[in-house]
Amino acid sequence: MAQTGETKILLDESEIPTHWYNIVPDLPVPPPPVLHPGTGQPIGPADLAPLFPMSLILQEVSREGAIEIPDEVRDIYRLWRPSPMYRAHRLEKALGTPAHIYYKYEGVSPAGSHKPNTAIAQAYYNKQDGIRRLTTETGAGQWGSALSFACALFGLECTVYMVKASYFHKPYRRSMIEAYGARIFASPSPETNAGRKVLAESPDSPGSLGIAISEAVEDAATHDDAHYSLGSVLNHVLLHQTVIGQEALKQMEKAGEYPDVVIGCVGGGSNFAGLVFPFVGENVRRGRRTRIVAAEPTACPTLTRGVYAYDLGDTVGLTPLVKMHTLGHTFIPPAIHAGGLRYHGDAPLVCLLLDQGMIEAVAHPQTKIFQAAVTFARTEGIIPAPESAHAIQSAIDEALQAKEAGERRVILFNLSGHGHFDMGAYDAFFAGKLEDHEYPESAIREALTHLPKVG
Ligand SMILES: *Cc1c(COP(=O)(O)O)cnc(C)c1O
Repeated sequence: MAQTGETKILLDESEIPTHWYNIVPDLPVPPPPVLHPGTGQPIGPADLAPLFPMSLILQEVSREGAIEIPDEVRDIYRLWRPSPMYRAHRLEKALGTPAHIYYKYEGVSPAGSHKPNTAIAQAYYNKQDGIRRLTTETGAGQWGSALSFACALFGLECTVYMVKASYFHKPYRRSMIEAYGARIFASPSPETNAGRKVLAESPDSPGSLGIAISEAVEDAATHDDAHYSLGSVLNHVLLHQTVIGQEALKQMEKAGEYPDVVIGCVGGGSNFAGLVFPFVGENVRRGRRTRIVAAEPTACPTLTRGVYAYDLGDTVGLTPLVKMHTLGHTFIPPAIHAGGLRYHGDAPLVCLLLDQGMIEAVAHPQTKIFQAAVTFARTEGIIPAPESAHAIQSAIDEALQAKEAGERRVILFNLSGHGHFDMGAYDAFFAGKLEDHEYPESAIREALTHLPKVG
Protein backbone atom coordinates (compact mmCIF):
# COMPACT_ATOMS: atom_id res chain seq x y z
CA MET A 1 0.00 0.00 0.00
CA ALA A 2 1.34 3.41 -0.92
CA GLN A 3 2.23 5.85 1.83
CA THR A 4 -0.14 8.67 2.56
CA GLY A 5 1.25 12.05 3.50
CA GLU A 6 4.47 13.66 2.39
CA THR A 7 7.93 12.35 3.26
CA LYS A 8 9.94 15.58 2.89
CA ILE A 9 8.46 18.86 3.99
CA LEU A 10 10.51 21.68 2.50
CA LEU A 11 10.39 25.47 2.68
CA ASP A 12 11.77 28.10 0.28
CA GLU A 13 14.82 30.21 1.13
CA SER A 14 12.46 33.16 1.44
CA GLU A 15 10.86 31.36 4.40
CA ILE A 16 14.02 31.45 6.53
CA PRO A 17 12.85 33.30 9.67
CA THR A 18 13.54 37.05 9.69
CA HIS A 19 13.65 37.22 13.50
CA TRP A 20 14.84 35.06 16.37
CA TYR A 21 12.14 34.21 18.91
CA ASN A 22 12.87 35.32 22.48
CA ILE A 23 10.88 33.26 25.01
CA VAL A 24 11.54 35.62 27.96
CA PRO A 25 8.38 37.79 27.61
CA ASP A 26 6.29 34.58 27.40
CA LEU A 27 7.65 33.18 30.70
CA PRO A 28 5.36 33.09 33.76
CA VAL A 29 8.17 34.46 35.98
CA PRO A 30 11.25 36.55 35.12
CA PRO A 31 14.54 34.62 34.83
CA PRO A 32 16.56 34.69 38.10
CA PRO A 33 19.48 37.17 37.96
CA VAL A 34 22.99 36.07 37.00
CA LEU A 35 25.38 36.63 39.94
CA HIS A 36 29.02 37.71 40.17
CA PRO A 37 31.19 34.76 41.33
CA GLY A 38 33.13 36.98 43.76
CA THR A 39 30.46 39.26 45.26
CA GLY A 40 27.31 37.17 44.82
CA GLN A 41 25.59 40.35 43.53
CA PRO A 42 23.68 40.51 40.20
CA ILE A 43 26.02 41.30 37.31
CA GLY A 44 25.38 43.96 34.70
CA PRO A 45 26.21 44.14 30.98
CA ALA A 46 29.59 45.80 31.72
CA ASP A 47 30.77 42.73 33.68
CA LEU A 48 30.47 40.62 30.53
CA ALA A 49 32.14 43.14 28.19
CA PRO A 50 35.65 41.57 28.38
CA LEU A 51 34.22 38.35 26.93
CA PHE A 52 31.36 39.24 24.57
CA PRO A 53 30.40 42.04 22.16
CA MET A 54 27.74 44.40 23.57
CA SER A 55 25.26 43.34 20.85
CA LEU A 56 25.29 39.77 22.19
CA ILE A 57 25.21 40.94 25.83
CA LEU A 58 22.08 42.96 25.04
CA GLN A 59 20.51 39.88 23.44
CA GLU A 60 21.46 37.92 26.58
CA VAL A 61 19.33 40.22 28.76
CA SER A 62 16.71 41.20 26.18
CA ARG A 63 12.99 41.17 27.03
CA GLU A 64 11.92 41.85 23.44
CA GLY A 65 9.88 39.03 21.96
CA ALA A 66 11.54 39.12 18.53
CA ILE A 67 15.05 40.12 17.51
CA GLU A 68 15.83 40.80 13.89
CA ILE A 69 18.33 38.51 12.14
CA PRO A 70 20.96 40.57 10.27
CA ASP A 71 20.91 40.11 6.46
CA GLU A 72 24.55 38.92 6.45
CA VAL A 73 23.60 36.12 8.85
CA ARG A 74 20.50 35.14 6.86
CA ASP A 75 22.60 35.09 3.68
CA ILE A 76 24.90 32.48 5.24
CA TYR A 77 21.93 30.55 6.67
CA ARG A 78 20.87 30.11 3.01
CA LEU A 79 23.76 27.65 2.55
CA TRP A 80 21.69 25.02 4.38
CA ARG A 81 18.48 26.62 5.68
CA PRO A 82 15.58 26.11 5.77
CA SER A 83 16.53 22.64 6.97
CA PRO A 84 14.28 19.78 5.88
CA MET A 85 11.58 18.14 7.95
CA TYR A 86 10.81 14.49 7.32
CA ARG A 87 7.92 12.21 8.14
CA ALA A 88 9.49 8.95 9.40
CA HIS A 89 7.13 6.63 7.50
CA ARG A 90 9.49 3.64 7.62
CA LEU A 91 10.27 4.00 11.32
CA GLU A 92 6.52 4.21 12.04
CA LYS A 93 5.98 1.04 10.03
CA ALA A 94 8.82 -0.82 11.78
CA LEU A 95 7.31 0.12 15.15
CA GLY A 96 3.81 -0.78 13.98
CA THR A 97 2.54 2.44 15.51
CA PRO A 98 -0.47 4.53 14.54
CA ALA A 99 1.57 7.56 15.65
CA HIS A 100 2.89 10.02 13.06
CA ILE A 101 6.58 10.71 13.62
CA TYR A 102 8.21 13.84 12.18
CA TYR A 103 11.79 14.99 12.56
CA LYS A 104 13.57 18.22 11.78
CA TYR A 105 17.04 17.47 10.40
CA GLU A 106 19.87 19.86 11.36
CA GLY A 107 22.64 17.55 10.11
CA VAL A 108 22.48 19.26 6.68
CA SER A 109 24.63 22.19 7.86
CA PRO A 110 28.29 22.26 6.72
CA ALA A 111 29.46 21.27 10.22
CA GLY A 112 26.84 18.50 10.44
CA SER A 113 24.77 19.80 13.37
CA HIS A 114 22.54 22.65 14.54
CA LYS A 115 25.55 24.51 16.00
CA PRO A 116 26.33 26.80 13.03
CA ASN A 117 22.95 28.53 13.62
CA THR A 118 24.57 30.37 16.53
CA ALA A 119 28.22 30.14 15.45
CA ILE A 120 27.48 32.27 12.37
CA ALA A 121 25.56 34.84 14.42
CA GLN A 122 28.28 35.05 17.09
CA ALA A 123 31.10 35.39 14.56
CA TYR A 124 29.12 38.14 12.78
CA TYR A 125 28.59 40.29 15.91
CA ASN A 126 32.20 39.86 17.04
CA LYS A 127 33.46 40.88 13.59
CA GLN A 128 31.20 43.96 13.76
CA ASP A 129 32.77 44.74 17.14
CA GLY A 130 36.30 44.78 15.68
CA ILE A 131 37.40 41.54 17.34
CA ARG A 132 40.23 39.62 15.66
CA ARG A 133 40.08 36.20 17.35
CA LEU A 134 37.51 33.98 19.10
CA THR A 135 38.34 31.40 21.76
CA THR A 136 36.16 28.48 22.71
CA GLU A 137 35.96 25.00 24.17
CA THR A 138 34.65 21.90 22.48
CA GLY A 139 33.59 18.53 23.88
CA ALA A 140 33.00 16.01 21.13
CA GLY A 141 34.19 18.54 18.52
CA GLN A 142 30.90 19.63 16.97
CA TRP A 143 30.99 23.12 18.45
CA GLY A 144 34.69 23.54 17.58
CA SER A 145 33.97 22.65 13.96
CA ALA A 146 30.93 24.93 13.83
CA LEU A 147 32.78 27.94 15.24
CA SER A 148 35.91 27.39 13.14
CA PHE A 149 33.65 27.21 10.05
CA ALA A 150 31.94 30.47 11.06
CA CYS A 151 35.26 32.20 11.79
CA ALA A 152 36.60 31.14 8.39
CA LEU A 153 33.63 32.80 6.66
CA PHE A 154 34.16 36.08 8.56
CA GLY A 155 37.99 36.09 8.44
CA LEU A 156 38.38 35.70 12.21
CA GLU A 157 41.07 33.63 13.95
CA CYS A 158 39.82 30.86 16.18
CA THR A 159 41.42 29.02 19.15
CA VAL A 160 39.73 25.82 20.30
CA TYR A 161 40.35 24.00 23.63
CA MET A 162 39.15 20.46 23.03
CA VAL A 163 38.38 18.09 25.95
CA LYS A 164 41.42 15.77 25.98
CA ALA A 165 39.43 12.50 25.93
CA SER A 166 37.70 13.60 22.71
CA TYR A 167 40.87 15.06 21.21
CA PHE A 168 42.21 11.50 21.03
CA HIS A 169 38.88 9.69 20.44
CA LYS A 170 37.64 11.99 17.68
CA PRO A 171 40.73 12.69 15.54
CA TYR A 172 38.65 13.56 12.46
CA ARG A 173 36.67 16.26 14.28
CA ARG A 174 40.07 17.70 15.19
CA SER A 175 41.15 17.52 11.52
CA MET A 176 37.94 19.22 10.49
CA ILE A 177 38.57 22.08 12.93
CA GLU A 178 42.08 22.45 11.48
CA ALA A 179 40.71 22.29 7.92
CA TYR A 180 38.63 25.39 8.74
CA GLY A 181 41.83 27.09 9.93
CA ALA A 182 41.53 27.11 13.74
CA ARG A 183 44.30 26.40 16.29
CA ILE A 184 43.42 23.54 18.59
CA PHE A 185 44.76 22.42 22.00
CA ALA A 186 43.95 19.31 24.06
CA SER A 187 42.45 20.51 27.37
CA PRO A 188 43.69 20.64 30.10
CA SER A 189 46.55 22.33 28.23
CA PRO A 190 49.76 24.01 29.36
CA GLU A 191 48.60 27.18 27.52
CA THR A 192 46.61 28.69 30.41
CA ASN A 193 46.80 29.04 34.21
CA ALA A 194 43.57 27.06 34.50
CA GLY A 195 44.98 24.21 32.40
CA ARG A 196 48.32 24.21 34.21
CA LYS A 197 46.53 24.07 37.58
CA VAL A 198 44.52 20.99 36.61
CA LEU A 199 47.58 19.30 35.07
CA ALA A 200 49.57 19.87 38.26
CA GLU A 201 46.86 18.16 40.34
CA SER A 202 46.00 15.36 37.90
CA PRO A 203 48.43 15.00 34.98
CA ASP A 204 46.26 12.26 33.41
CA SER A 205 43.02 14.25 33.55
CA PRO A 206 40.80 13.33 30.55
CA GLY A 207 39.49 16.88 30.75
CA SER A 208 35.90 18.05 30.95
CA LEU A 209 33.83 20.77 29.36
CA GLY A 210 34.05 22.73 32.62
CA ILE A 211 37.87 22.75 32.48
CA ALA A 212 37.98 23.60 28.77
CA ILE A 213 35.58 26.51 29.37
CA SER A 214 37.92 27.83 32.09
CA GLU A 215 40.82 27.77 29.61
CA ALA A 216 38.95 29.46 26.77
CA VAL A 217 37.53 32.15 29.08
CA GLU A 218 40.97 32.88 30.55
CA ASP A 219 42.50 33.15 27.06
CA ALA A 220 39.86 35.67 25.94
CA ALA A 221 39.91 37.65 29.21
CA THR A 222 43.70 38.09 29.03
CA HIS A 223 43.81 39.23 25.37
CA ASP A 224 42.24 42.52 24.26
CA ASP A 225 41.68 41.51 20.65
CA ALA A 226 39.99 38.22 21.58
CA HIS A 227 36.50 37.34 22.74
CA TYR A 228 35.02 34.13 24.05
CA SER A 229 32.26 32.20 22.35
CA LEU A 230 30.01 29.57 23.91
CA GLY A 231 28.09 26.98 21.90
CA SER A 232 25.20 26.34 24.27
CA VAL A 233 23.61 27.25 27.64
CA LEU A 234 23.51 31.07 27.30
CA ASN A 235 20.28 32.88 26.46
CA HIS A 236 21.63 34.37 23.22
CA VAL A 237 22.73 30.94 21.98
CA LEU A 238 19.27 29.48 22.59
CA LEU A 239 17.80 32.56 20.91
CA HIS A 240 19.81 31.99 17.71
CA GLN A 241 18.69 28.36 17.57
CA THR A 242 15.00 29.30 17.43
CA VAL A 243 15.19 29.38 13.63
CA ILE A 244 14.73 25.59 13.97
CA GLY A 245 11.39 25.71 15.76
CA GLN A 246 10.03 28.60 13.73
CA GLU A 247 10.69 26.69 10.52
CA ALA A 248 9.23 23.55 12.11
CA LEU A 249 5.98 25.40 12.93
CA LYS A 250 5.62 26.32 9.24
CA GLN A 251 6.53 22.81 8.13
CA MET A 252 4.00 21.15 10.45
CA GLU A 253 1.39 23.52 9.06
CA LYS A 254 2.36 22.48 5.53
CA ALA A 255 2.02 18.84 6.57
CA GLY A 256 -1.47 19.68 7.87
CA GLU A 257 -0.75 18.49 11.42
CA TYR A 258 0.23 19.89 14.80
CA PRO A 259 2.47 17.95 17.23
CA ASP A 260 1.08 16.46 20.45
CA VAL A 261 4.63 16.05 21.72
CA VAL A 262 7.90 17.79 20.77
CA ILE A 263 11.22 16.23 21.76
CA GLY A 264 14.88 17.27 21.83
CA CYS A 265 18.05 15.91 23.38
CA VAL A 266 19.71 18.11 26.00
CA GLY A 267 23.41 18.67 26.61
CA GLY A 268 23.50 22.38 27.37
CA GLY A 269 19.98 22.79 25.99
CA SER A 270 20.46 24.74 22.75
CA ASN A 271 19.09 22.40 20.07
CA PHE A 272 16.25 21.45 22.42
CA ALA A 273 15.40 25.10 23.04
CA GLY A 274 15.80 25.90 19.35
CA LEU A 275 13.10 23.43 18.39
CA VAL A 276 10.78 23.62 21.40
CA PHE A 277 10.73 27.29 22.48
CA PRO A 278 8.51 28.42 19.60
CA PHE A 279 6.12 25.55 20.50
CA VAL A 280 6.21 26.57 24.19
CA GLY A 281 5.31 30.06 22.96
CA GLU A 282 2.29 28.58 21.14
CA ASN A 283 1.28 26.78 24.35
CA VAL A 284 1.49 30.02 26.33
CA ARG A 285 -0.06 32.40 23.81
CA ARG A 286 -2.61 30.18 22.07
CA GLY A 287 -3.49 27.70 24.78
CA ARG A 288 -2.04 24.76 22.84
CA ARG A 289 -1.37 21.67 24.98
CA THR A 290 1.72 20.23 23.28
CA ARG A 291 3.86 18.19 25.66
CA ILE A 292 7.55 19.05 25.56
CA VAL A 293 10.12 16.35 26.41
CA ALA A 294 13.85 16.80 27.11
CA ALA A 295 15.97 13.64 26.67
CA GLU A 296 19.33 13.32 28.44
CA PRO A 297 21.83 10.52 29.25
CA THR A 298 21.60 8.58 32.53
CA ALA A 299 25.38 9.12 32.80
CA CYS A 300 24.92 12.91 33.04
CA PRO A 301 21.40 13.25 34.45
CA THR A 302 21.29 16.98 35.02
CA LEU A 303 17.57 17.63 34.56
CA THR A 304 16.32 14.34 36.04
CA ARG A 305 18.64 14.09 39.08
CA GLY A 306 20.38 17.46 39.53
CA VAL A 307 19.26 20.19 41.92
CA TYR A 308 17.87 23.58 40.85
CA ALA A 309 20.42 25.92 42.41
CA TYR A 310 22.99 28.62 41.71
CA ASP A 311 26.25 27.13 40.39
CA LEU A 312 29.30 28.05 38.37
CA GLY A 313 29.34 27.44 34.62
CA ASP A 314 32.95 26.19 34.65
CA THR A 315 35.19 24.12 36.92
CA VAL A 316 37.70 26.69 38.08
CA GLY A 317 35.29 29.50 38.93
CA LEU A 318 35.79 32.18 36.26
CA THR A 319 32.19 32.28 35.04
CA PRO A 320 29.20 33.96 36.72
CA LEU A 321 26.78 32.02 38.92
CA VAL A 322 23.58 30.99 37.20
CA LYS A 323 20.51 29.24 38.55
CA MET A 324 20.15 25.90 36.82
CA HIS A 325 19.70 22.17 37.33
CA THR A 326 23.21 21.09 38.18
CA LEU A 327 25.20 18.07 39.24
CA GLY A 328 27.82 20.41 40.75
CA HIS A 329 30.60 22.18 38.84
CA THR A 330 33.17 19.63 40.13
CA PHE A 331 31.18 16.79 38.51
CA ILE A 332 33.18 15.02 35.79
CA PRO A 333 30.81 12.72 33.91
CA PRO A 334 31.96 9.33 32.61
CA ALA A 335 33.41 9.41 29.09
CA ILE A 336 30.22 8.31 27.31
CA HIS A 337 30.00 8.49 23.55
CA ALA A 338 27.42 11.25 23.41
CA GLY A 339 30.23 13.69 24.29
CA GLY A 340 28.05 16.69 23.49
CA LEU A 341 25.77 15.83 26.41
CA ARG A 342 28.47 15.79 29.12
CA TYR A 343 27.91 19.12 30.85
CA HIS A 344 27.29 19.46 34.61
CA GLY A 345 24.53 22.05 34.18
CA ASP A 346 21.91 23.10 31.65
CA ALA A 347 20.66 26.30 30.08
CA PRO A 348 18.99 28.45 32.77
CA LEU A 349 15.96 29.10 30.52
CA VAL A 350 15.42 25.37 29.98
CA CYS A 351 15.77 24.75 33.74
CA LEU A 352 13.26 27.49 34.50
CA LEU A 353 10.71 25.80 32.21
CA LEU A 354 11.30 22.46 33.97
CA ASP A 355 10.96 24.10 37.39
CA GLN A 356 7.68 25.69 36.24
CA GLY A 357 6.32 22.32 35.07
CA MET A 358 6.16 23.51 31.45
CA ILE A 359 8.42 20.72 30.13
CA GLU A 360 9.24 17.12 31.12
CA ALA A 361 12.63 15.36 31.28
CA VAL A 362 13.67 11.73 30.82
CA ALA A 363 17.07 9.98 30.86
CA HIS A 364 18.26 7.09 28.67
CA PRO A 365 21.26 4.73 29.04
CA GLN A 366 23.76 4.66 26.16
CA THR A 367 23.26 1.04 25.01
CA LYS A 368 19.57 1.81 24.59
CA ILE A 369 20.13 4.95 22.55
CA PHE A 370 22.58 3.18 20.23
CA GLN A 371 19.94 0.50 19.62
CA ALA A 372 17.51 3.32 18.76
CA ALA A 373 20.15 4.92 16.51
CA VAL A 374 20.61 1.67 14.59
CA THR A 375 16.85 1.16 14.23
CA PHE A 376 16.64 4.70 12.87
CA ALA A 377 19.56 4.24 10.45
CA ARG A 378 18.04 0.99 9.13
CA THR A 379 14.63 2.51 8.53
CA GLU A 380 15.22 6.19 7.71
CA GLY A 381 18.77 5.89 6.32
CA ILE A 382 20.41 8.70 8.30
CA ILE A 383 23.10 7.68 10.79
CA PRO A 384 22.34 9.92 13.76
CA ALA A 385 24.77 11.58 16.16
CA PRO A 386 24.71 9.69 19.49
CA GLU A 387 23.39 12.90 21.09
CA SER A 388 20.43 13.00 18.71
CA ALA A 389 19.75 9.31 19.39
CA HIS A 390 18.47 10.31 22.86
CA ALA A 391 15.66 12.20 21.13
CA ILE A 392 15.04 9.25 18.81
CA GLN A 393 14.70 6.95 21.85
CA SER A 394 12.11 9.27 23.37
CA ALA A 395 10.24 9.46 20.05
CA ILE A 396 10.20 5.65 19.88
CA ASP A 397 8.94 5.46 23.48
CA GLU A 398 6.14 7.90 22.64
CA ALA A 399 5.23 5.99 19.46
CA LEU A 400 5.06 2.68 21.35
CA GLN A 401 2.90 4.23 24.08
CA ALA A 402 0.59 5.53 21.36
CA LYS A 403 0.43 2.01 19.88
CA GLU A 404 -0.46 0.57 23.30
CA ALA A 405 -3.18 3.18 23.71
CA GLY A 406 -4.37 2.85 20.09
CA GLU A 407 -3.83 6.60 19.74
CA ARG A 408 -2.84 8.65 16.68
CA ARG A 409 -0.22 10.78 18.45
CA VAL A 410 1.74 13.32 16.38
CA ILE A 411 5.38 13.31 17.45
CA LEU A 412 8.08 15.77 16.39
CA PHE A 413 11.72 15.50 17.37
CA ASN A 414 14.94 17.26 16.52
CA LEU A 415 17.59 15.23 14.74
CA SER A 416 20.33 17.61 15.83
CA GLY A 417 23.14 16.14 13.74
CA HIS A 418 24.57 13.22 11.82
CA GLY A 419 26.93 10.67 13.32
CA HIS A 420 29.53 10.40 10.55
CA PHE A 421 32.34 11.31 12.96
CA ASP A 422 31.03 8.95 15.64
CA MET A 423 31.57 5.65 13.87
CA GLY A 424 34.10 4.62 16.55
CA ALA A 425 31.26 4.76 19.06
CA TYR A 426 29.07 2.66 16.75
CA ASP A 427 31.97 0.17 16.46
CA ALA A 428 32.14 -0.06 20.26
CA PHE A 429 28.39 -0.65 20.36
CA PHE A 430 28.54 -3.42 17.73
CA ALA A 431 31.45 -5.05 19.62
CA GLY A 432 29.35 -5.08 22.81
CA LYS A 433 31.86 -2.80 24.51
CA LEU A 434 29.52 -0.01 25.58
CA GLU A 435 28.77 0.24 29.29
CA ASP A 436 25.78 1.90 30.88
CA HIS A 437 26.53 4.37 33.63
CA GLU A 438 24.03 5.10 36.36
CA TYR A 439 25.71 7.92 38.21
CA PRO A 440 25.86 6.90 41.92
CA GLU A 441 23.74 9.05 44.22
CA SER A 442 26.70 9.39 46.61
CA ALA A 443 28.88 10.95 43.87
CA ILE A 444 26.13 13.43 42.99
CA ARG A 445 25.65 14.34 46.66
CA GLU A 446 29.41 14.81 47.05
CA ALA A 447 29.65 17.15 44.05
CA LEU A 448 26.67 19.12 45.35
CA THR A 449 28.51 19.90 48.60
CA HIS A 450 30.74 22.18 46.48
CA LEU A 451 27.87 24.40 45.30
CA PRO A 452 28.66 28.05 45.93
CA LYS A 453 26.81 29.62 48.87
CA VAL A 454 24.42 32.29 47.64
CA GLY A 455 22.45 34.95 49.53
C1 LIG B 1 26.40 19.76 20.73
C2 LIG B 1 25.37 18.85 20.29
C3 LIG B 1 24.28 18.52 21.12
C4 LIG B 1 24.15 19.01 22.53
O1 LIG B 1 24.16 20.39 22.71
P1 LIG B 1 22.84 21.22 23.02
O2 LIG B 1 23.31 22.58 23.34
O3 LIG B 1 22.15 20.56 24.18
O4 LIG B 1 22.02 21.17 21.80
C5 LIG B 1 23.30 17.70 20.62
N1 LIG B 1 23.38 17.18 19.38
C6 LIG B 1 24.41 17.46 18.55
C7 LIG B 1 24.44 16.86 17.19
C8 LIG B 1 25.42 18.31 18.98
O5 LIG B 1 26.43 18.60 18.15
